[in-house]
Amino acid sequence: MSDQSRSYEGGCACGHVRYKVESPPLIVHCCHCSFCQRQNGSAFAVNAVVEADRVTLLQGDVVDITVPSPSGKNQKITRCSKCQVAIWSYYLVMRGGIGELVRFIRVGTLDDPSAMPPDVHIYTSAKQPWVELPEDKPVVDEYYVTKEVWPEESLARLGRLLEVAQQ
Ligand SMILES: [Zn+2]
Ligand SMILES: [Zn+2]
Repeated sequence: MSDQSRSYEGGCACGHVRYKVESPPLIVHCCHCSFCQRQNGSAFAVNAVVEADRVTLLQGDVVDITVPSPSGKNQKITRCSKCQVAIWSYYLVMRGGIGELVRFIRVGTLDDPSAMPPDVHIYTSAKQPWVELPEDKPVVDEYYVTKEVWPEESLARLGRLLEVAQQ
């Protein structure tokens, strides 16, 4: 069981934006989809999913940019207003109506990205052939069934988000 009181800090490249995450992530995705490859100019994206109310902007201001996502439900990427580095993203539409209640933190913007290694590799059908996947983590061609992959305590936290979304 992870330490649920742990917190983390991160920021953009120019130092304008600083943020704090006040819970361990619900899950950390390593996404190999072609959208993430293009948006990051890289081979994959590492995103830590956490409740929006556990994420605080400590300093600076951000801008939200809309980009397409593989589901067809557009994604908003939140960037530093000055250097434009992507800090986190979110979806307006997610199952259960929780889209605006969760953030997908770009793990590389944490002061210590090693604190949030990927829990699952997704959209590996689009992965670059030279990327080698670990044998001790779930790997899925596209997406997965949440209750089969998320730890027990994260599912409990998801239950609370779904309750809030229905209010
Ligand atoms: Zn910046
Ligand atoms: Zn992706």
